[in-house]
Amino acid sequence: MKNLFLAAITLTMSSLVLAGEATTIHWGYDQEIGAAHWGELSEQYKTCSTGKNQTPINIHHTYRIRDQHPIEINYQAAPKTIIFNGHTVQVNTESERDYLQIEHEKFNLKQFHFHTPSENQINGKNFPLELHFVNQNAQGELTVLAVMFKLGKENSEISKMWADISTEENHPQPLRTQVNLTKLLPTQRNYYRFSGSLTTPPCSEGVTWIVLKQPLTLSEKQLEQFKDVLKQHSNNRPIQPLNGRLIIED
Ligand SMILES: [Zn+2]
Repeated sequence: MKNLFLAAITLTMSSLVLAGEATTIHWGYDQEIGAAHWGELSEQYKTCSTGKNQTPINIHHTYRIRDQHPIEINYQAAPKTIIFNGHTVQVNTESERDYLQIEHEKFNLKQFHFHTPSENQINGKNFPLELHFVNQNAQGELTVLAVMFKLGKENSEISKMWADISTEENHPQPLRTQVNLTKLLPTQRNYYRFSGSLTTPPCSEGVTWIVLKQPLTLSEKQLEQFKDVLKQHSNNRPIQPLNGRLIIED
């Protein structure tokens, strides 16, 4: 009787653990929880290995289409909080005033975060840092606007943000100095565009990617500060196959 009771408890506990795993399954960038294994870690992450339109990619052979609609970027509000979530440093934005518009469709900025080295490559080349602005339309569809950074002059807004990062995981910190998002965007807005996915589990597809051609700069010190937050680990997913996708350039 006692054994049966214990067995019942054990069963309940293991189903609770399984239920919990569905939303919080641990993933990372190294070894057995690294990108090569994401698809096996959970049923929810299956697309990471079975998907055919995955990001990042090497932007190499492109198709130039003239007279494309320019993208309109309106990031006007100052973001409020910054967080190290264990995978990246993320800034959450919740303002209706922050949006981008492509072909008359409006996408609201939800958050932005960073990868080192860059995830996407341009002509086989990585950049030291890539910024991802994640935008969502009313139907829940995503457009990620990517900005590359090369080493050079420091970026004033990165200095403001880095000053407020807590290296403790999942501890959002208020941004004490107003961050101007337009200084995290190049003045030239020419871009590459392709259809892809999230670059982290669950690797969901149907994401529009816009990679701006003109890189910004950050200083070597700023890059090192970011790497220190990541404990000197990289947080870029390896390049994924194109599988016949076309890359458009304006
Ligand atoms: Zn990203």
